[in-house]
Amino acid sequence: MPSGTRTRASRSLPGPRLDRLYTTLCRRNPGEPEFQQAAHEVLASLAPVLEARPELADPGLIERIAEPERQIIFRVPWQDDSGVPRVHRGFRVEFNSALGPYKGGLRFHPSLNLGIVKFLGFEQTFKNALTGLGIGGGKGGSDFDPHGRSDAEVMRFCQSFMTELHRHLGEHTDIPAGDIGVGGREIGYLFGQYRRITNRWESGTLTGKGREWGGSELRTQATGYGTVLFLAEMLNVRGESLDGQRVTVSGSGNVAIHAIEKAQELGAHVLTAADSGGYVLDEKGMDLPLLKQIKEVERGRIRTYADRRGTSARYVPGGRVWDVPTDVALPCATQNELDAEAATTLLAHGVKAVAEGANMPTTPGAVHLLHRAGVAFGPGKAANAGGVATSVLEMQQNATRQTWPPEETAAKLTAVMRRIHHTCYETADRFGTPGNYVTGANIAAFERLATGMLAQGLV
Ligand code: GLU
Repeated sequence: MPSGTRTRASRSLPGPRLDRLYTTLCRRNPGEPEFQQAAHEVLASLAPVLEARPELADPGLIERIAEPERQIIFRVPWQDDSGVPRVHRGFRVEFNSALGPYKGGLRFHPSLNLGIVKFLGFEQTFKNALTGLGIGGGKGGSDFDPHGRSDAEVMRFCQSFMTELHRHLGEHTDIPAGDIGVGGREIGYLFGQYRRITNRWESGTLTGKGREWGGSELRTQATGYGTVLFLAEMLNVRGESLDGQRVTVSGSGNVAIHAIEKAQELGAHVLTAADSGGYVLDEKGMDLPLLKQIKEVERGRIRTYADRRGTSARYVPGGRVWDVPTDVALPCATQNELDAEAATTLLAHGVKAVAEGANMPTTPGAVHLLHRAGVAFGPGKAANAGGVATSVLEMQQNATRQTWPPEETAAKLTAVMRRIHHTCYETADRFGTPGNYVTGANIAAFERLATGMLAQGLV
């Protein structure tokens, strides 16, 4: 765990009640640093809203928000290509359904554990509330690693995973989508098994489906595109645009690729992409067709990009993109990838804006440094909400059996990102923390969630 994580999470919170609540949460969720960190960040934002709106300080309300409604853990047995039996662990944390059915992705990654799923489900609940749409929050996945597995192995794994998970899903109950390690291929296998078991064409039960069988235009692009649209709004407030700005991006998955695409479309000079082995720096600007060929078609490693690109690009094994001088940084890989040390380097190079394409990629220590230096910082639950918002557009099309043209979906994605930006900005201002999108996002989401939960009684 990067050092920044511990420093901030051990700090006390404003007011004895929030402090007590956090101590209890840590005691009841031991060994789950990511969940504790995500909860701490939200609790640290709430004091002004609890003071201004005493009706939301109802005893037991925050305690309920911090406790998942349901946590499901299950065995996923499957057989690899050599006939060897394998066992993985599956998770689905149904965090909060006050605003709609549980909604959130599935992550397949060897590091996944219950604490990480809970952090993701908690973040998702706030993110989804912030969209203003009718979705609750949930998250799931497995410690299975699809990398290096054949298509047939991935299919058998997904079928086994869904054989257990299907009983908990439904378009009015719980609607998964993708996340790290779960893309179009995995959603296809999962949907096929769901349909086979239930004998129902319930397309609204999973999002991120293929375009020919119930998927929406732009769902694949939406998280990365939305992150850059949110970034453009933050820059706009400061009288700037993306045109001509240097941008560094971490990651090379779905979010990173489409963040690069949208940033380039808006005139930015995107210098980097990365994977767990290192990063590539391309002085001429990233060649997107080459990156897509390597990552999406060949499912290869980022070092191949430098091998094929020629002299403008070099591969830095084990390095971090945050060492590259930039105007804008877009962490699009995974949690806690941008720590206080990286933030210090970015600041020394004069970074102006950071927007999170991944979920909680910036440690609390780094966020603190960026805020203190006046950098525009867009937290993931606001900046990357375009993905889940477009999942809702997919659900709307499924419910009405319609297929919207690309322009219609694109216009709705732009509108939702502008609305989320406005909500965060205006809320931060209203509660005395102007320009702080973290408090703005947390308070706005909390107000909506709390109001819904109170109105529905003790559930
Ligand atoms: N995993 C994505 C997220 O972090 C998408 C969730 C969804 O579309 O349900 O928001």
